[in-house]
Amino acid sequence: MTGDGRARPAAGDGRPQGADRASFRPRLYAPGPVAVPPSVLEALARPVVHHRTDAFRATFVRVRAALAEVLEVAGDEVMLLTGSGTTAFEAALVAAVPRGAHVLALRGGKFGDRWAAMARAFGYRVSEHDVAWGRAFDVDGLRVRLADVGQPDAVTLVHSETSTGVLHDVAALAEAVRTHAPDALVLVDAVTSLAAAELRPRAWGLDAVVAGSQKGVMLPPGLGFAWLSERAWARGEEAGRRVPAYTLDLHRERPRQRAGDSGTTPATSLVVAAEVALGLLLAEGLPARRQALGRRNRALLAAGRALGAEPFAERASPAVAAMTTPEGLAAPAVVRALADRGVRIAGGQDHLASRLIRPSLLGHGDDYDAVVLAAALEDAWRDLGRTVASGAAVAAAMAVLGS
Ligand SMILES: *Cc1c(COP(=O)(O)O)cnc(C)c1O
Repeated sequence: MTGDGRARPAAGDGRPQGADRASFRPRLYAPGPVAVPPSVLEALARPVVHHRTDAFRATFVRVRAALAEVLEVAGDEVMLLTGSGTTAFEAALVAAVPRGAHVLALRGGKFGDRWAAMARAFGYRVSEHDVAWGRAFDVDGLRVRLADVGQPDAVTLVHSETSTGVLHDVAALAEAVRTHAPDALVLVDAVTSLAAAELRPRAWGLDAVVAGSQKGVMLPPGLGFAWLSERAWARGEEAGRRVPAYTLDLHRERPRQRAGDSGTTPATSLVVAAEVALGLLLAEGLPARRQALGRRNRALLAAGRALGAEPFAERASPAVAAMTTPEGLAAPAVVRALADRGVRIAGGQDHLASRLIRPSLLGHGDDYDAVVLAAALEDAWRDLGRTVASGAAVAAAMAVLGS
């Protein structure tokens, strides 16, 4: 019986079951969209402003400058687009890579596949370089492939491949491209690495870096960000065979955005909130933020390991803890059991759907969120009939956090 005299349906160990689960509050622990800080939510609740005003233009200009800082290209222009991360990748691709060009797409997961498919949709000649999902690209393999395919005009890379949890070594891979295919532009999907992993577009010689608002920047979905190197801007300008674009024509947008304008109505409320979100990141400091996310992600992987789940990524991204469930424990069932307790994580995609779970602490939160997630994983395991020593995953997570 409970305090109010209701009979509580209880499992053998007395844990709350069934209707009591309605008392769990929703927790978003997926690798995007992520939980958003309260001050950002407050900014989103402000009255809608008009975009053709001096005040909004000033905000737009400041947000672009803050984005450049977060991307570690301070002083350069970052294009601020209404749309998702994919929108930004598309805009950057067609702005920099001329019609009919040869694109080498590195595919090691869902997003690598997407950029190859996109390049094909735009009529580029596309070659692929593949690695098994969960593995990281190595420099030697890329060198061999570059020699195979001749001199591509552009190479697409995913920094943090969210579908597999792998953080690819973009610094080394970009260097290999510069050495063996010096004219190839290096276009990088940094959607889940931005603000989570070290990313140095200039020092690494990258030509385009794109991201979106609903991941490490801790905003709702709806904004895309794209930085292009001077070489990439020039390549697009000079070619005289630009792939057609209109709302996503970055060459047209560039002078407008410099003045705080954009060709179409931007997502004004998101832009206003972006100033708050980016301000929080810069106040915390990128190195501190990265360290915290790395620690929390290691805690999640340790919690999973205590339950018999294995890290999937050869080189783990701090943005997502991709793990294979133990034999006989179906990943979709784990995702559902967690959802019953208010906890939203991501499952696996494509051929990994039955075995992969992908919790993430990329959003607003603190170290204790890793402990909450560890406790929820233990409960999900029990819900699915597994015997788990009480506190096993929690202890494993805390051992990492405390160390
Ligand atoms: C989420 C994600 C994307 C896609 O971003 P959208 O905002 O959904 O368009 C692309 N790449 C990676 C690595 C992602 O995690």
